[in-house]
Amino acid sequence: MDAQAIGGSCLCGSVAYEIMPPFMFFQYCYCSRCRKNSGSAHAANIMMEAAQFKWLRGEENIKVFRMPDVRAFSTSFCTVCGSALPWLTKNEKFYIVPAGGLNDDPDAKPDRNIHWASRAAWYVPEGELPCFEEAST
Ligand SMILES: [Zn+2]
Ligand SMILES: [Zn+2]
Repeated sequence: MDAQAIGGSCLCGSVAYEIMPPFMFFQYCYCSRCRKNSGSAHAANIMMEAAQFKWLRGEENIKVFRMPDVRAFSTSFCTVCGSALPWLTKNEKFYIVPAGGLNDDPDAKPDRNIHWASRAAWYVPEGELPCFEEAST
């Protein structure tokens, strides 16, 4: 691969990883599980083959949660700071990477919304809100 690796890490910095393009998908998911996990209106997830993902440090601080009685949903987080982290899919073929953890521009953008019908009642598309370059006053 001649592509440039893209780095990511958790909030406290104890866990770090890198990913290699090209990606299988980059999407926003509005399902209730992703909303619970992200604490936000939607997840922003990138998926790639497992071989395109590498942990750089802190694997001892990762906890993976495999949701019982569902086909595939999992989450992963830093046990020090709680940040969402990438996880290996149950079939161990792919990694799902929460894009907010990336430190570099992945040179890819989300191209679809999934589970749109499950979006929160309070969801307002970001582009419909006033924008402030820093915190609003
Ligand atoms: Zn951390
Ligand atoms: Zn979801």
